[in-house]
Amino acid sequence: MKATAPREPATSPATPGPHGAPPAFDVEAVRAQIPALHQEVHGKPLVYLDSAATSLKPRCVIDAVERVYARDCANVHRGVHALSERATAAFEGARHKVRRLLGAADSREVVFTRGTTEAINLVAWSFLRPRLRAGDEVLVTELEHHANIVPWQLVCAEVGARVVPAPIDDRGVLDVAALGRLLGPRTKLVALAHTSNALGTVNPVAEVAALARAAGVPVLVDGAQAVPHGPVDVQALGCDFFAFSAHKVYGPTGVGVLWGKLAHLEAMGPWQGGGDMIRTVSFEGSTWNDPPHRFEAGTPNIAGVIGLGAAIDWLLGLDLAGARAHEQALLARATDALSRVPGLRIVGTAPGKASVVGFVLEGVHPHDLATILDHEGVAVRAGHHCAQPVMRRFGVPATARASFALYNTLDEVDALLRAIERARALFA
Ligand code: PMP
Repeated sequence: MKATAPREPATSPATPGPHGAPPAFDVEAVRAQIPALHQEVHGKPLVYLDSAATSLKPRCVIDAVERVYARDCANVHRGVHALSERATAAFEGARHKVRRLLGAADSREVVFTRGTTEAINLVAWSFLRPRLRAGDEVLVTELEHHANIVPWQLVCAEVGARVVPAPIDDRGVLDVAALGRLLGPRTKLVALAHTSNALGTVNPVAEVAALARAAGVPVLVDGAQAVPHGPVDVQALGCDFFAFSAHKVYGPTGVGVLWGKLAHLEAMGPWQGGGDMIRTVSFEGSTWNDPPHRFEAGTPNIAGVIGLGAAIDWLLGLDLAGARAHEQALLARATDALSRVPGLRIVGTAPGKASVVGFVLEGVHPHDLATILDHEGVAVRAGHHCAQPVMRRFGVPATARASFALYNTLDEVDALLRAIERARALFA
């Protein structure tokens, strides 16, 4: 059945504070809304420092998902009954909220996917594959997540094209001049992370996009780690595609977004076939629905999309400038304290980083360190962070990574440091 075209609802601004001032950022008020923060792990209060892997969810997101299953439980785009109309309105409403979040021009540019990974694969197969010839190149950077490397390798392997990495320096800063030199007539796409999940580096995406534009090369931005620390404005960035995952921005798992310029999406063929993505079907042949539905075959993650909408409302209702300053204070405290720990090396020291700190401790494998920290109630990630080329670049097999969200506190940074001291004492 044909999907309905999205319509823009009236948007309601965040509730103003006193005298019309924006509501103040208050970490304790935020924490009170996140149920998962309030638990003990191994008899210790949870200190959750793994938000770059996935963020914890506010009550309003959990409630929005529950409401779908408890009340508005229907398929979208295909029923005239009340429940389906309610579900469809909430689903398409979320599309408008994403448009607002990303500063996009048109809600038809917002495609719902399973996550960043699926969004990048969609571009690889629907946009790039038909344009790619033997000898062509996809230009990435050395700091990419595997999700922004492997899909390009898969399409390149089909035609004899290749993936070329632009270098980063010893701090994890992208060498933009080198990237510029690698841009050439063979380059068919530049694909780069906005923010590195392993290093915290924030790439100068607008600068890279301007270089690429001058060379006539489209740009995809992996925004998985950028949206949580926003704001993001895809039009100001000047990119062609932008991908992110709901679960890293306080929303549910299993849902994400591909934003693409409408002209690109209109020119792209479908990726997967099935319900909703067609206009007509016959045994002689089928025709395609318009974007974004052309790329949303089958029943989508309805509750996930609606939960993402709730997460966006929640986020945009906060004092985001205050939240960002708070995250930067957490990062500064952690960086300063970790730098003083004997035998500890921070991996990724780019100026202007996001609140992600990767580190290695002499004589202690990152996995052992993370296990010891877990017993202290402190949740960090250990491993290659799906960024093996980055690990290779820094000569380490793995790091431990503490990643801070707007709901973390300075006391939790101190708890991390106390737990690291305990680990050092164990291995002394
Ligand atoms: N890119 C980056 C920079 C990431 O951090 C992640 C998630 N770790 C991804 C892509 C993939 O996101 P997802 O697993 O949600 O598809």
